Amino acid sequence: MEKHVPLLSIKNITKVYNIGDNRLDILRGINLTVEEGEFVAIMGPSGSGKSTLMHILGLLDRPTDGVYEIYGENVLKFNDNQTAFLRSKIIGFVFQQYNLLNKMTAADNVALPMVYSGGKDRKEKSEKLLAEVGLSDRTEHKPTQLSGGQQQRVAIARALVNDPKIIFADEPTGNLSSKQSNEIMQILTDLNKKGISVILVTHEPDIAKWADRLIMIKDGQVLSDTIQKKKEKKEDTKPLKIKKETSHLSMAEFAENFFSALRAIISNKTRSILTMLGIIIGVASIISMLALGSGAQKSLEQQITSMGTNLLYLMPGRISLGGVSGSVARRIYLKDVDALAENTELIKNIDPNVSGSAQVVYGNKNTNTSITGATPVYQYLQNAVPQYGRFFTRSENENLSKVCVIGTTVVKNLFGNEDPVGKYIKINRKQFRVIGILPVKGAQGYRDGDDMIIVPLNTAMKRLLGTNYVSSVAVEVQEGKMSETETYLLKTMLERNKLTSEQADAFRIRNMSDMIQMLTSTTQTMTMLLGAVAGISLIVGGIGIMNIMLVSVSERTREIGLRKAIGATKIAVLLQFLIESSVLSLLGGILGVSLGVAISVIVSKIAGWATFVSSFSVALSVGFSAIVGIVFGLWPAKKASELSPIEALRHD
Ligand code: ADP
Repeated sequence: MEKHVPLLSIKNITKVYNIGDNRLDILRGINLTVEEGEFVAIMGPSGSGKSTLMHILGLLDRPTDGVYEIYGENVLKFNDNQTAFLRSKIIGFVFQQYNLLNKMTAADNVALPMVYSGGKDRKEKSEKLLAEVGLSDRTEHKPTQLSGGQQQRVAIARALVNDPKIIFADEPTGNLSSKQSNEIMQILTDLNKKGISVILVTHEPDIAKWADRLIMIKDGQVLSDTIQKKKEKKEDTKPLKIKKETSHLSMAEFAENFFSALRAIISNKTRSILTMLGIIIGVASIISMLALGSGAQKSLEQQITSMGTNLLYLMPGRISLGGVSGSVARRIYLKDVDALAENTELIKNIDPNVSGSAQVVYGNKNTNTSITGATPVYQYLQNAVPQYGRFFTRSENENLSKVCVIGTTVVKNLFGNEDPVGKYIKINRKQFRVIGILPVKGAQGYRDGDDMIIVPLNTAMKRLLGTNYVSSVAVEVQEGKMSETETYLLKTMLERNKLTSEQADAFRIRNMSDMIQMLTSTTQTMTMLLGAVAGISLIVGGIGIMNIMLVSVSERTREIGLRKAIGATKIAVLLQFLIESSVLSLLGGILGVSLGVAISVIVSKIAGWATFVSSFSVALSVGFSAIVGIVFGLWPAKKASELSPIEALRHD
């Protein structure tokens, strides 16, 4: 015959707290054996160690020393998974403070342990148990909508949901009126009759009377152990197998954790929204800022490459107004240009220009626009070969032909949808034939690059503007002769004007590669600045996420204590919180990206700035917020999951 093993037995259990240098001996060697089906009350004055003992029995706390066996197994040696299995399947704990989760309905609170035990038909089971404790009409109520007695009945239903072998009740009636207390005791008595062992702590003799056996405790020691009611001895039941060997997480458990994380997000709406807000702001700002920065850089790059890189511009020196030294600026005449052009070793093409503005009329429409006089090479030097119509020829320039090529803005202002090529317009009251349309340049700084008309140089000088000198000369330099040509241009012009090298101010030479360097460094500074602003807002967003996550620590610590008390393993708790933070971060990230893209699109529409959303900025911002969200969501959970359930439950 098999050796008889009791339901539980403890030997020499002690509990010591060290507070500062003080050693507090709370339990001083308790020995106790409880058989299956017993109804035991533990009584004693306040502070005698009753609750401490109950917490040890309920596996919510560990003794300092001693042996604790359930069905003959030393459960103090069990690992986290095995202990969680005991809390889930063998033990049901009822607290004096009920410890319900306030954001869940009564039915969900009752069903919660089944999340960890993997039980099926949770809804039916929780409703059935709530009906058994007389709350069938309160299943959808939240704990705050229930009386104390009702909350305790929900807590009892929760303790029963996994069909435990033992119910531990720690002052279950401590907060209740005597009528409510009697109802609770009746429920516990009925449960005991069904074969569940009940162990209860109380300091009220009236409550202790309900039990069959009374154990008195004082100063951490058993004072007496008496049978109050004789019960017929039941035949020995076979000891349960209480050791759970497998510990891997099944797909069903994962799904369960996933949905309970989603439920947690939904039931903590304010916190979820605030957390996401931090992520949304951080992500949206970095995406829109970097989109603006790189958009600006891209459009500047485009403008620069459209200007051509081997061009030099020769212009008269700046005419200073009333300067002390007086101005030495000299004009540039066509004969100077011809002389310069003779050096074909340095100069590939030369294009003298004049510019001014004029009133232009077509039919009843008129507009004021800028006029540039140029030679036919202009179209190649300035990327201005017409896509529609043609540019003027050398002979048209030599013959002072009244033909013109017009920009798209002028087309829009004068012709609307009409085809301009072949039509006649009046420039300063002189009739010109439109022969081509310039390619679109877009905005150039403040200027509209398409609001212009180009006419042959000679026509412009003699017929329109009446000048005999040019405003500037564009010089296309032979490959690799940039600085040589600069020196040559200046030297020749000074010589021709009989000026010395000290008077070099008479002319200005603008070098395109200088311009490019200047522009690129400006855009780089701008992008860096925008990036810095975006980085700061991302960090601020990160701090926001962190704060919200940290603020909820105490609430979560208690929640984790409760979850562990009803059978959650450490891994299950961590998984739930990991999923919760990841879902929040992901959702916030998606919303942030959409908002960021929307802002860039709106800004580019309203302000006319180019924007460009780079995948780098998306990855950076979403990655950063996700890491912050997950780390600070998981960190408190990890810390709490390492506490004993009772320590976590006591957290404030
Ligand atoms: P009872 O339930 O019998 O009223 P408890 O078991 O709650 O008593 O507490 C017994 C003693 O242990 C009390 O004197 C209490 O101050 C002390 N105590 C309980 N928990 C702690 C703790 N976490 N740290 C230090 N002392 C504690």
